[in-house]
Amino acid sequence: MRPTILNPLFAEIRTLDGVGPKLEKLISGIAGPRLVDLAFDLPVGVIDRSYRPKLAEAEIGRIATVSVNVLKHTPSRDRRQPYRVLCSDETSTLELVFFHAHADYLNKQLPVGSRRIVSGKIERFRDALQMTHPDHIVAPEDEGGLPLHEPVYALTEGLTLKPLSKAIRGALAKLPELPEWDDPAFLAARGWNGFASALRAAHMPENEGDLRSETPVRMRLAFDELLANQLALLLIRRQMRAAAKGRSLRGDGRLKAKAIAALPFALTGAQLQAIAEIEADIAAPNRMLRLLQGDVGAGKTVVAFLALLNAVEAGAQGAFMAPTEILARQHMASLATLATAAGVRMALLTGRERSGRDATLSALAKGEIDILVGTHALFSEDVTFADLGLAVIDEQHRFGVHQRMLLQGKGGRPADVLVMTATPIPRTLALTAYGDMDVSRLTGRPPGRKPVATRVLSADRLDEVIDHLRRAIAGGARAYWVCPLVEESEKIDLAAAEERAALLKRMLGPIVGLVHGRMKGAERDAEMARFKAGETAVLVATTVIEVGVDVPEATIMVVEHAERFGLAQLHQLRGRVGRGSGKSSCLLIYHGKLGETAKARLKTMRETDDGFVIAEEDLRLRGAGELLGTRQSGLPEFRLADLAVHADLLAAARDDAQLILARDPELQSPRGQTLRVLLYLFGRDEAVRYLRAG
Ligand code: ADP
Ligand code: MG
Repeated sequence: MRPTILNPLFAEIRTLDGVGPKLEKLISGIAGPRLVDLAFDLPVGVIDRSYRPKLAEAEIGRIATVSVNVLKHTPSRDRRQPYRVLCSDETSTLELVFFHAHADYLNKQLPVGSRRIVSGKIERFRDALQMTHPDHIVAPEDEGGLPLHEPVYALTEGLTLKPLSKAIRGALAKLPELPEWDDPAFLAARGWNGFASALRAAHMPENEGDLRSETPVRMRLAFDELLANQLALLLIRRQMRAAAKGRSLRGDGRLKAKAIAALPFALTGAQLQAIAEIEADIAAPNRMLRLLQGDVGAGKTVVAFLALLNAVEAGAQGAFMAPTEILARQHMASLATLATAAGVRMALLTGRERSGRDATLSALAKGEIDILVGTHALFSEDVTFADLGLAVIDEQHRFGVHQRMLLQGKGGRPADVLVMTATPIPRTLALTAYGDMDVSRLTGRPPGRKPVATRVLSADRLDEVIDHLRRAIAGGARAYWVCPLVEESEKIDLAAAEERAALLKRMLGPIVGLVHGRMKGAERDAEMARFKAGETAVLVATTVIEVGVDVPEATIMVVEHAERFGLAQLHQLRGRVGRGSGKSSCLLIYHGKLGETAKARLKTMRETDDGFVIAEEDLRLRGAGELLGTRQSGLPEFRLADLAVHADLLAAARDDAQLILARDPELQSPRGQTLRVLLYLFGRDEAVRYLRAG
């Protein structure tokens, strides 16, 4: 149960005055559905209204707050003319200008003969001073309500600053005085405020400097968010390990030896080391929770398969889970030879095919299937293993902590879990996302892999790109052509995959195929198969090919609107080529003029192909929130912490969390109780459930 002290903060935002359904939808879109989400929506800018000149000395172009008398209203004669209100102080006059104004409203706001404080940008029109749509108009007795330093928040279409600011103020007004959960000596040493007062202060910046992630106020908030994250991960980790006591699987190596003998290549040192780490975990009595991190093409699949064989040798079953239908099928196909060589029984289970499903499930329950390959369908209620020993989750960032937990119950006894990600994650971020796991890294690429020549080109040179493609295809090459969206949207000028495919077909002939996210699975698979078989030579695609698709013959990757992709995504895309023996190239096409960040990003792509370097750079350039470019990434999103800046705080939070749990494992002490409040505040309810009631 959430501590009652937090209840006001967890009220829905529609309970605020002035927030109706429309505003609620807009606000929850950018912040979240509850008051706490609003309170955590920190300002991104500040308007300084403290400049209070007499009119005669007011600087043109500057935001000023002036005190004036209202002299006269001049309503607009037609809709194109503005409504004007003439005002003055003892030194000069100022005309307030309103377009599409309501006379009633303005008469009420600015009655003739009254005194008003108005704030906005001073402009000059002909010889007179004017202010178009003042930001604030208040009577002298209400001056206290006029913010001299006004926080600016990120907005979205249809949402303006005023109602959002008002809602945020409303949320902050509900902020209770929270108990202190941090160590007083630690706070004193850092010079940090209490959480609530820091949060209020964060919403009252006076200058740009106050918005920096390094201010004591922002650091305090970030630290607590990271502490909640680390505590939660440690609790989950402890829970998963505790649930796993007593299981130890030891393979004898006979199946593995057969599979390795059937491999057309030798395993690399990094692969062998990863396999050894995994096997040691599987053999240990504790539950394995290991992350196998390796760049695109690093050869994770074979490592996972050998680990699965290890479990099968020990008499258990294995599950191999992929994030998409395409990938599940691809794993199934590419592992078939090895499975046959090893003599293990492998089957496929996805959400799509209905026929054969019952037979597969019953064989699985009887232990007649050794390794089950599939998608999320493996999580379904009706899937029962006879004895699941090891579950491998490929491309974990699409699954997230919650699904990792779900796996626990399968087959009665908790299985060992190996999670794989091809998205190289900076060390700092790995700790926040996978702090509950041990990590193996597959550094380097398999031998024989050639670097991919990368060029950055303006869309003005599309003709050249197509020419280049035509020649390459004539020589037998195959190419991906990636576009960010499926259909041309009126508002955003993105190159649409469908249109691009049509154009390329006109220019290059019928050898152009198309896959996109809105296609039915079977259709998409057929299209992929045609490309794999060489029936098509150019595959136009939305980013559905981003993850793991393996066509070694493809040697050219064209990415349109490359400026819109994050570094990690570009890196993944580029990793689709350079897989075979041919020389590969990657053409990054940008549209329009490049911004500084996009420029830096594309430069990084040209300069390195080390995924871990790219990931660090991505974190530096964009911050963690956007690191993977997607919200469904499964990585935690921090609202108060900025990992590009707060990496040191993360380490401190990690140490603190470890110390806390070592001293007070169930968070029962007085400080422990306050830390429970912290966990709830940051929505880590799940972790609290693993604590003894207290
Ligand atoms: P990823 O780590 O991206 O999942 P894969 O496991 O799909 O990479 O491997 C990419 C390609 O490299 C596959 O075609 C695989 O057969 C091949 N491969 C894996 N290990 C080696 C190796 N040691 N030597 C040569 N090729 C390898
Ligand atoms: Mg893979």
